[in-house]
Amino acid sequence: MSLPVLLWIFVVFVTGSCVGSFVNVCVYRLVSERSVFWPGSHCASCLRPIAWFDNIPILGYVFLLGKCRKCGTSFSPRYMAIEFLSGLMFVAVFLLDVVYNTPNYLVVSANKYQITCGLVPWSVWFTFISHATLLSFLLTASLTDLDKMEIPLGITVTGTIIGVLFSTFMAWPFPDVNQVILPSKDWPLNPKLPQGAIPWPVWYPYFSGFESQVYALGFMSSFAGIIVGTFFLRIIRFTYGLGRGIEGMGLGDADLMMMVGAFWGWQIVIVSFFLAVIPAFIFGILQLFRKGEQAFPFGPSLAISSVCTFYCWKFLSSYLQPVFFEFSLLFFLGCFSVVFLLIISFALRLLNKFRMNQID
Ligand SMILES: [Zn+2]
Repeated sequence: MSLPVLLWIFVVFVTGSCVGSFVNVCVYRLVSERSVFWPGSHCASCLRPIAWFDNIPILGYVFLLGKCRKCGTSFSPRYMAIEFLSGLMFVAVFLLDVVYNTPNYLVVSANKYQITCGLVPWSVWFTFISHATLLSFLLTASLTDLDKMEIPLGITVTGTIIGVLFSTFMAWPFPDVNQVILPSKDWPLNPKLPQGAIPWPVWYPYFSGFESQVYALGFMSSFAGIIVGTFFLRIIRFTYGLGRGIEGMGLGDADLMMMVGAFWGWQIVIVSFFLAVIPAFIFGILQLFRKGEQAFPFGPSLAISSVCTFYCWKFLSSYLQPVFFEFSLLFFLGCFSVVFLLIISFALRLLNKFRMNQID
């Protein structure tokens, strides 16, 4: 890795840790329903304001050994851990999007030499910023979900609005703005749609008359993501509740996927929902060892799954493309999934009843 790239990584890490510092403030204040912007940072114990030099991410904590300069009360090491994690997250996005070009953007491949010299094209910076923004919102939402088992609307609605703006002005195939792909005769098997900052457009081939309306298509990709994120998860929640007799998912989870949909479109929402079972299963087992059988938040699993789905889209998309652009097939699969979920959840209800009777 060249020196200019290493310098960028340092800058990105510092920026990420500053964002992490703000994430801490948001989580701490949103769960207690206080203003995020006013008043400034202060010690929770003596209420005196914290000077800017003591508030520098990570370093401020290390120099004061995690204590308030004025009253000596210890701050939780969690604050520093989140700042560090946020910094690492930003570096990871920079490495994946810019240095290793995981989504396979043409503009990055074409400018490989310039990027090595530290000259990152502005369209690639925009892509990085939009993804880092979404990850910061996901981190905030996951932390409030872990703390209070709820995701405040303040996070998800703000994130959704910002997502719509990013998606509209960075419509697919951004950052490869001049790339035009025409569907061939054997569409939707070929050609393979390339990945953009929004993985895929809302629909392809485009609706007639919309081919040149880049911003309208970007807005529609985002809007479809919002609708699917909100309703898809609410339908699943309702169906599961109907079969099982208890609620399995919070409404905050649907809001979280609405935000993901606003940034990344409806296809990511559906795939990452199904893949969220994997982290949820791991968290479920960990929870079982730590606290016994108890409800645990689904938000972090959804967040992890969405990010992994986006960065693995290049590999997943070849299997998904034939399914995702056939309306009849999608409709059939959707109905099948709902019926399947109803049967599974009803079976769970019967199983639980049987177990209860055994105990009695
Ligand atoms: Zn204090």
